[in-house]
Amino acid sequence: GELKPEDFDILSRLGEGAAGTVRQVLHRPSGIVMAKKSITADPDTAIQRQILRELAFLRACVSPYIVSFYGAFLDEEDTTIAICMEYCEAGSLEDIYKKCKELGAVIGEGVLGKLAIAVLKGLVYLHQQKKIHRDIKPSNILMTRSGEIKLCDFGVSGELINSLAQTFTGTKYYMAPERIQGAPYAVQSDIWSLGLTIIEVAQNRPALPPPGYSQLAIFELLDFIVHQPIEELPDDRSAELRDFVRVCLTKDPAKRPGPAMMLNHAFIQKWENTNVDLGKFVRQLYDWPE
Ligand code: ATP
Ligand code: MG
Repeated sequence: GELKPEDFDILSRLGEGAAGTVRQVLHRPSGIVMAKKSITADPDTAIQRQILRELAFLRACVSPYIVSFYGAFLDEEDTTIAICMEYCEAGSLEDIYKKCKELGAVIGEGVLGKLAIAVLKGLVYLHQQKKIHRDIKPSNILMTRSGEIKLCDFGVSGELINSLAQTFTGTKYYMAPERIQGAPYAVQSDIWSLGLTIIEVAQNRPALPPPGYSQLAIFELLDFIVHQPIEELPDDRSAELRDFVRVCLTKDPAKRPGPAMMLNHAFIQKWENTNVDLGKFVRQLYDWPE
């Protein structure tokens, strides 16, 4: 059935982004625990309806690598748009690497390999649906209790992208050089962002701003992304992983492979056929029972 605002109980607050708040909620009629993202709505009802129509496309997005969508509706006296999605108990990769940092742990290559595989397969799936993610970063990659890795928050509604662009300026750290130079979004731009994401998760800290440059003004940061080499992973990581990240961070989008081609990379091949118990990784990280 259709989701209605009055059918939900708020259980907890999961996080806050530039565009809105995410809460863990119970949908009483179905008994399903969901994640509800609330985004401040444009007051124009025609725009609101257009956004809801475009979000309905998410219903058709069914893949093990994409967070499932339950529905979207106008909420809180029509002041917010609520997007209800699968609740991922282990949180985002940002939550996960910060937890690792706290524990003084480093994420191993098996987990990084499975992460890269899930993101690439999710991007291939979106590409088949004629969609580009546009916002690959650790906070938009979620993990379930059993260790499945899934993408969320992709650019499904052009109207929502427009309306958000007017109200806030998000982080530009993950933006590919060609985007900074004004080129339209292409699948290759998501691969750039994947490279930065893997460095961040591998090192327990963002790749940008570069170490020692924390005072960069926004213009200098964008100039850095376009012209300066991004840091490489240290040589205690495998040659395959270091090359994978290097290929993702190819400055020229014409020379940077798309997601389908990246799946042929030696780093992916190495982990595609190797079992990694991601459920166990999550249980150990959060100290959950077997
Ligand atoms: P930004 O607004 O800059 O994109 P963000 O991605 O962190 O940042 P949100 O998308 O609002 O902002 O998400 C906030 C946090 O909520 C995430 O970092 C994550 O911890 C949590 N979260 C989001 N969606 C889910 C979900 N489906 N299941 C569990 N936790 C979630
Ligand atoms: Mg997000």
